[in-house]
Amino acid sequence: MNNQAFDLHHLWHPYTSLTQPLPCYRVERASGVYLQLADGRKLVDGMSSWWACLHGYNVPELNQAATAQLEKMSHVMFGGLTHDPAVNLCRALSQVLPEGLDRFFLADSGSVSVEVALKMAIQYWHGRGQPKTRFVTLNKGYHGDTFGAMSVCDPNGGMHSLYKGFLPKHLFIDSPKSRFGGDWDPQDLQPLELILEQRHHELAALILEPIVQGAGGMCFYHPEYLKGARALCDRYDVLLIVDEIATGFGRTGKLFACEWAGISPDIMCIGKALTGGYMTMAATITTRQVAETICHGPAGVLMHGPTFMANPLACAVATASLELLLASPWQNRIQNIEAQLQRELAPARELPRVADVRVLGGIGVIELHEPLNVAEVQQRLVEQGVWIRPFGKLLYVMPPYIIQPDELSQLTQAMLNICE
Ligand SMILES: *Cc1c(COP(=O)(O)O)cnc(C)c1O
Repeated sequence: MNNQAFDLHHLWHPYTSLTQPLPCYRVERASGVYLQLADGRKLVDGMSSWWACLHGYNVPELNQAATAQLEKMSHVMFGGLTHDPAVNLCRALSQVLPEGLDRFFLADSGSVSVEVALKMAIQYWHGRGQPKTRFVTLNKGYHGDTFGAMSVCDPNGGMHSLYKGFLPKHLFIDSPKSRFGGDWDPQDLQPLELILEQRHHELAALILEPIVQGAGGMCFYHPEYLKGARALCDRYDVLLIVDEIATGFGRTGKLFACEWAGISPDIMCIGKALTGGYMTMAATITTRQVAETICHGPAGVLMHGPTFMANPLACAVATASLELLLASPWQNRIQNIEAQLQRELAPARELPRVADVRVLGGIGVIELHEPLNVAEVQQRLVEQGVWIRPFGKLLYVMPPYIIQPDELSQLTQAMLNICE
C-alpha cells in the first residue's frame, strides 16, 4: 500500500469519512506563498493554512528561532518550572493586546483556550460568591470542536443535535445584521439587551467572535455592535469573552479586531497565527481584576494545566513571529490586499450564481446561492495553480500577508472562473 492509499483508508482528515473519503493532495514542501505538491506542481496559497501562516512558509526568521530554541530545550513541564521563552512571549503580547489584558494562560490549541476562558468565567463567579454557569452567544458563531467550545457554536450546524444529551444548553441570540462598512441599526442590539435584562443573574459571560464570524459563515458585522455589547455587559454585570483566534494579528486590518470598536474584553482567546502557523499554541488572557477574583475564590487556583503548557519551542517561535510582524509594514500590506480584493472580486457581483461578495482586510469572500461540490471545485482550483478550500456556499481567501499582486490576481481569477 503506498502512502496515498494508506492515508485514504487509515487517516481521518478534518470532518471527513473514512469509508467515502474526499481526495487529498500530497504536499511535499512549502516556501513563501507557495505549496509544492508531491507531483511537482506549485500552488499559490490562499488559505494561510486556516488563518495561521501569515508570513507564508519556511520563514528564515522563524526557522532560526526554532533551531536556536531546539538546541537549548524543546520542552519542559510548566508545573514548578518556568523559562524565558514563555515570559518573553507574554511580555511582548502585553505590549500589544487591548488595554488591561495582562494575565496569561498558555494553552495548546484554540479550542482548549476557549475551554479555559469558559472555566475562568465560571470560577470568577465562584470568586464573587454568586455561582453562574450559563453563557450567551451569537447564532452563526464558531469557537472550536471540544465539548465546551462546541456548546457555544452555532446550534444549527449538526454538532448540537448529534451530541444532544451531553452538551450543556446555553443561550443563543441572532447575530447582528448591520454589516461592516454599512449603516448601523441599533435594533441589532435588542436581542442581547433583552436576554441580559431578563437573565443576567444566571449568565456568566457573553462569548463572541469580534467583527468576523469565521467558520460559521464568514460574515463581517458593524463595530457598533461590539461597542454596544461591551456597554451592555458592563451594565448587567456579565463578563465579555472575545474569541480573536481567527482575527488576531492583523487579519482584519487592526492588530486585534476589538480595536475597530475601541473595546477591551474581560477575557480574550488568541491562537492560529500566534506562532505564525509553525506549531499549535493558543492563549487565554484576562485582566488583573478577573484573575484576582478567581484566585481569591473557593478553589484558590485556576483549574487547568495541560501537559504541553507553554511549550518553549512554540513560545520562542511565537515571539519571533510577533517581532517579525511588528517590524513589517503589515498595515500597508493588508490595505493593499484589501484594495486589490475589492477591485478584482467586484465583477463576481454580476454573476447569476453569486449571492454576495465581501472583503475586509486580508479576507475576500464570494458567497454563492448553492453549495459547491468540494471535490470537483477543489480539483479545478488546483489545476489553476491555487490552493483555495471551498466551504459550503463559500469561496474565500485569506492569503499570507507577503503575497505579491500578481499572485493575488491568480487567486481572484481562479475564484471568478469557478463562479462563472
Ligand atoms: C479555529 C478557531 C477556533 C478553534 O481553534 P483550534 O486551534 O482549531 O482548536 C476557535 N475559535 C475561532 C474563532 C476559530 O476560528
